[in-house]
Amino acid sequence: MGDVRRGRRRAGEWLVLAAALALAVALLVGQEPPPPQAAAAEPVPVASPDPVDVQVDRAAARLDAWMRPLAPGERPPQFVLFSFDGVGSHRHWERVLAIAGAAQARVTGFLSGVYLLPDAERRRYHPPGRAAGASAIGFGGSRAEVDRLISDLKEARRRGHEIGTHYNGHFCAGDEPAVGRWSTAMWDAELDQFFAFVEAARERGLDLGQVRGGRTPCLEGRWVQAYAAMRAHGFTYDTSRPTDGIVWPTDEQGIREFWMPSVRVPALRKQVLLMDYNLWIAVNGGRDEPERAAEFSDVVLDAYRAAYTAAATGNRAPLVIGSHFNRWSGGGFFDAVERFMAEVCLRPETVCATHSDVSAWIDLQDPEVLDVWRRKPPAHVPRP
Ligand SMILES: [Zn+2]
Repeated sequence: MGDVRRGRRRAGEWLVLAAALALAVALLVGQEPPPPQAAAAEPVPVASPDPVDVQVDRAAARLDAWMRPLAPGERPPQFVLFSFDGVGSHRHWERVLAIAGAAQARVTGFLSGVYLLPDAERRRYHPPGRAAGASAIGFGGSRAEVDRLISDLKEARRRGHEIGTHYNGHFCAGDEPAVGRWSTAMWDAELDQFFAFVEAARERGLDLGQVRGGRTPCLEGRWVQAYAAMRAHGFTYDTSRPTDGIVWPTDEQGIREFWMPSVRVPALRKQVLLMDYNLWIAVNGGRDEPERAAEFSDVVLDAYRAAYTAAATGNRAPLVIGSHFNRWSGGGFFDAVERFMAEVCLRPETVCATHSDVSAWIDLQDPEVLDVWRRKPPAHVPRP
């Protein structure tokens, strides 16, 4: 785990850079003429079904087929949980919504609450232990850009995707007081504000439904402290903590933890946390080498495939794929996520679902039937 931990710490620095890049992208996008707004909300003529509604039907049907208790001895479906942190980029939402639609997939987006604040209103955010208006990842840009994000989030919800929280200011180790040192009171203040930003956006048409969980910035946190705040805010799950191999979610102090798997990456001959920035650090030390994007995409896709096979032929634990809306190193890492989503979600006995979907499925199960699978050893990618 030492390797993973080092990777995480260094990854924090890259996250800040990536967030800055994402913001730069968002700003560029903001200078384009606004897209036609009305199309998504128009009534759908029966003769030519809206592809969005077709996707909603198919993704829901795929999940519904498994929303029942397993019979004793029956194999669970292989769940894959595509999850994205930050989710403030319009271009990435366009890509994810299109690919998820084709793949009959649902995904979970973890929203950084500061993206709902226009830059001009940044002082509405009071980061725990800091002056008002500070954020390691910037804010939402112009009012028009925030409104576009709201419309992206609405569209994501309409298609059955889930929105959780990536908290707000994204303060990682080295940027103190970082979330890894926060007390319960600080987590509470952070979540109170996240929900206040979401509530304020309701006036502009945003309805996230119930936010039931999240992923902490840079996967950091003192868990006893953080879990208490999650429980106080009605969360049912968290998906921040790394572990060795692919394992079933466990109950941690009243919060269902969807563990982030660390698995062997065949091309690198080493074990890496299956999170995009950790993969980047592992592949080339986090350098920007856009000319190698296709090569990196192949390495990462191969890692995802190997992890899927390990779970599907092993303990059948849900596979969590963590990613950001990034274009690191020419976009090779995001490209791998897209390619994997496009192929894996349509496989037999496979369901790409949200964290709350999988949570609801687990709650439907007879614990003794599921324990047969939960007691199996963590799934690992074998050495050749
Ligand atoms: Zn992040």
